[in-house]
Amino acid sequence: MKISDYEGKSKEELIKIIEELEMLNHQLLDEKEQETRLDYAWTGNLGHWYWNVHTNRVTFNALKSETLGYRKEDLPGDLGYQFFTDKLHPEDHARVMENMMDHLKGRSPVYETEYRIQAKDGTYHWFYDRGRITRYSNEGKPLFLAGIVFDITERKNREISLEQANQQLEEKILVDPLTGLYNRRYLIEFLQEKALSARSLGGRISILFMDIDHFKAVNDNYGHVVGDQVLQEASLLMKDVVRQSDVVGRYGGEEFLIILPGAGKMDAFETGERIRNAIQSRQFPGGVNITISGGVREFQGETITEFIDEADRNLLLAKRSGRNRIQT
Ligand code: GH3
Ligand code: MG
Ligand code: MG
Repeated sequence: MKISDYEGKSKEELIKIIEELEMLNHQLLDEKEQETRLDYAWTGNLGHWYWNVHTNRVTFNALKSETLGYRKEDLPGDLGYQFFTDKLHPEDHARVMENMMDHLKGRSPVYETEYRIQAKDGTYHWFYDRGRITRYSNEGKPLFLAGIVFDITERKNREISLEQANQQLEEKILVDPLTGLYNRRYLIEFLQEKALSARSLGGRISILFMDIDHFKAVNDNYGHVVGDQVLQEASLLMKDVVRQSDVVGRYGGEEFLIILPGAGKMDAFETGERIRNAIQSRQFPGGVNITISGGVREFQGETITEFIDEADRNLLLAKRSGRNRIQT
């Protein structure tokens, strides 16, 4: 029908036409949904949605609101776009709006996104949503959008728990279980990655190799359990003393390697002194007192093995010259 077809019609006639159109519209939507179920009987398919941008009226398959715990009968007849956007997870809101704006402004050929949406009971469901503008005004403004939405909660939750399990595994491989510090593997990987790039960028990086003095005597006099507790507490103390960007790791038994990105050897020496003083004045579990020695090395472009060896050599010098000292 063209606009001219409506000219000269009475109000009653126009209302009748609208009623017929509405009926036809509903019929077509119903059929479309039937078709949807036949064509796209995929897991989680919640059917189509239609959004009239001008009136902001959203028509959608009842499944979409049903999975969120709403019965279609309970919802107002006129649902705005905001009915769903208000229920978006706060972390997803901006991204979804951006995706939609990108499409409305013609920057992307389709609107396609995944988001969490809050059900009536407060839990979040994951939806995969995809749609596009199907009708433009004469001025080229979007008038109507059609799309399809899927409930992908199960798949997403599986993905997330896999990711978490992976992360935990990775941590296990890189973290020492007794002290929670990074282990030797991590320290070496970190150095291989960071030392070379720091130097090529004109930056400095230093390491501090530390070893508890006469630790064997702690075990011999107080037992291994106390020895373990001392190692745990010394680890916490070192993490407390260093800068946020420094990496503290357990290199071996009672040997610690601290990586100080951006630090020259004097900075590393000062950090070593702070640790040495803090260890010396701390009373450890079981009333144990210990001291610690350290060797410093600033990276000069050698191999990582040589880099650590140089720090270790300085540590040995510190031990030879009486312990409880930091050698540069
Ligand atoms: P030095 O001042 O020369 O470093 O003397 P030291 O006794 O500390 O040196 P040594 O390397 O001979 O001994 C290290 C001791 O650290 C031996 C070992 O029993 C103890 N040790 C290593 N790992 C652990 C651990 O995980 N727990 C406990 N309790 N002791 C450990
Ligand atoms: Mg020792
Ligand atoms: Mg040792």
